[in-house]
Amino acid sequence: MAIPFDTHPLPSQRDLMATPFKRDVKTRAVYQEPTPTFDKDNPFQSMMERFDYAAELLELDRGLYEYLRSSSRIHITSVPVVMDSGELKVFQGYRVIHNEVLGPSKGGIRYAPDVHLDEVKALAAWMTWKCAIVGVPFGGAKGGITCNPAEMSPGEIERLTRRYTANLLDVFGPDKDIPAPDMNTNEQVMAWLLDTYSMHVRRTEPAVVTGKPILIGGSQGRREATGRGVMTSTLSAMEKLGMRPGQSTVAVQGFGNVGSVAAQLLREQGCSVVAVSDVSGGYYNPNGIDIDAAIEYMANHGRSLAGFDGAEPISNAELLALDVDVLAPCAKENQLTSENAGDVKAKIVVEGANGPTTPGADDILNENGVLVVPDILANAGGVTVSYFEWVQDRQGYFWSLDRVNRRLDRMMRSGFDAVYAETERFGVPMRIGAYINAIEKVANALRLRGIYA
Ligand code: NAD
Repeated sequence: MAIPFDTHPLPSQRDLMATPFKRDVKTRAVYQEPTPTFDKDNPFQSMMERFDYAAELLELDRGLYEYLRSSSRIHITSVPVVMDSGELKVFQGYRVIHNEVLGPSKGGIRYAPDVHLDEVKALAAWMTWKCAIVGVPFGGAKGGITCNPAEMSPGEIERLTRRYTANLLDVFGPDKDIPAPDMNTNEQVMAWLLDTYSMHVRRTEPAVVTGKPILIGGSQGRREATGRGVMTSTLSAMEKLGMRPGQSTVAVQGFGNVGSVAAQLLREQGCSVVAVSDVSGGYYNPNGIDIDAAIEYMANHGRSLAGFDGAEPISNAELLALDVDVLAPCAKENQLTSENAGDVKAKIVVEGANGPTTPGADDILNENGVLVVPDILANAGGVTVSYFEWVQDRQGYFWSLDRVNRRLDRMMRSGFDAVYAETERFGVPMRIGAYINAIEKVANALRLRGIYA
């Protein structure tokens, strides 16, 4: 048996960290298995490529490798909805539980036309690593429904959400699996999910979901948490490179929940945010953009920056190549690729978005000495405050914004330092340091718990 699961006597944490996972000769065959159909845009394959690299450096035992790369459970469910027209439509819904070794699983639900199983599996695994890095006692999960919310009425979205929740009633639960918002889902969707679950269990159960409205058990600071974590990670990275916020310029791609808050908070810290962008294009002002004015403009113009006159229009491609100190991609996946990564002039890239850098781009950025603060660390502020929300719901006692922010900053900084330490220990890019940190924690927890047979 390859897995060293003998926990008698119980090994100390130090022993665990010092004991390399054994690997047998077959392990290399697993790592070197060619992936002939590698698709650089497939998030699961892109995640697995980094996972494999970190697992190999950790000399992870083959059994543990197989365990951690597999999803624990995959739920696929048909979600029938009577549309406003009276027509019956059936949507495909997913909930993937990647791992529950550190605690109940946690992860958002996205509604989008291109949601597919591989994407949900990758996002679920990312949640496992993210929670482990910041020390949140959750495993990883993700959900999604293949639908086009832009073409659906609020009533249709409500019925979709309620039926999806009812179908997955045995999966969700405050001690089992706790959803949150993701792409195209928001506080209102979480409120419907909470209500549907509560109706079925015959009591109000706020802790079954996070990212809900404050009035029904949401947390102060949750909406800003991811952007705030991006700001904290940026400051930590600047410290490592001896850079000062007051003398640094920043470009932010994406001006939604994450990007706009990150830009605002970095500005507050003294950085000059010289460029921002959204789907309408980029906006550049070498003297620094008035971020409050940009946020107000967006709020008054259909949540778009189109026509914003506080900066000159540039393309999104130009924004990524600007001569700035920090580039924060906060829009979507696969934005920095092997085609454009060579143009990046920033010294630090902080990934507010999930998966904005492809493995090919990573190689180029590393070769060019760019410090990339990876998504599973940089955008972990959201799940950290989700954890605070869950704790507050269970206590029935709610914290001030100041307490939320102080605790968030502390956890983000300690996550950054732990990842940076791995980066130096192995002489690897920060992304691999982050995977090493996370995989090691989850693997050690698994060894302590052992395998139930
Ligand atoms: P959002 O929908 O609020 O904002 C996305 C922004 O990106 C919008 O301004 C949109 O116009 C812009 N955008 C889209 N395509 C673009 C493109 N090609 N070029 C430039 N801008 C473009 O979404 P969000 O919640 O801010 O999430 C952004 C990213 O952060 C996603 O990858 C998401 O998975 C990740 N993330 C979000 C959270 C969270 O708490 N919201 C937490 C962790 C990770």
